[in-house]
Amino acid sequence: MTLPVMPYGPRKLVVATVSLAGCFGCHMSLLDIDERLFDLVDLIRFDRSPLTDIKQIGACDIGLIEGGLCNAENVTVLREFRAHCKTLVAVGACAINGGLPAQRNHLDLGVVLSEVYRSRSGLSSGSAIPNDPELPLPLNKVHPIHEVVHVDYFLPGCPPSAEAIWRFLTDLMAGRTPHLGHDLLHYD
Ligand code: SF4
Repeated sequence: MTLPVMPYGPRKLVVATVSLAGCFGCHMSLLDIDERLFDLVDLIRFDRSPLTDIKQIGACDIGLIEGGLCNAENVTVLREFRAHCKTLVAVGACAINGGLPAQRNHLDLGVVLSEVYRSRSGLSSGSAIPNDPELPLPLNKVHPIHEVVHVDYFLPGCPPSAEAIWRFLTDLMAGRTPHLGHDLLHYD
């Protein structure tokens, strides 16, 4: 296998990943590059990521964002990623256009919460909408990440295939503008 030529010299690139309002399917697709993960960790070091369980993000070369924005905590985390990552990538349909979570956008959030927690059948008496201060406040609508921060690249798909993620990352690590072509570019 030919590994990409590093554009920044011999140091490893630092990569962070996060799942905002997503299902972790895009992270699963990243792991589906299988044995090429060994090649990848020769070239990069993971910073904050569900893969490392590091909670605080440091200075990074590349940030991979899965999921859109459905609550206030998502917005805070996204802004932290934008502030710390030289290159920010929207990975998958949810990050790019809200994806499945955005299906709730045509509904009134207050009505939805009330129906789920207060009025549907089978609830215990006294059931209420959760309001613990530790819970992040939901946004009225689910937003794609480009509506809040500048995004450098968009990697479509639900999820993007492992092959597409590998091609995208190896292009990026080599300092090339990622180019997937028709064989790997899809939106479903
Ligand atoms: Fe899951 Fe698809 Fe959204 Fe990725 S784009 S987080 S696979 S629903």
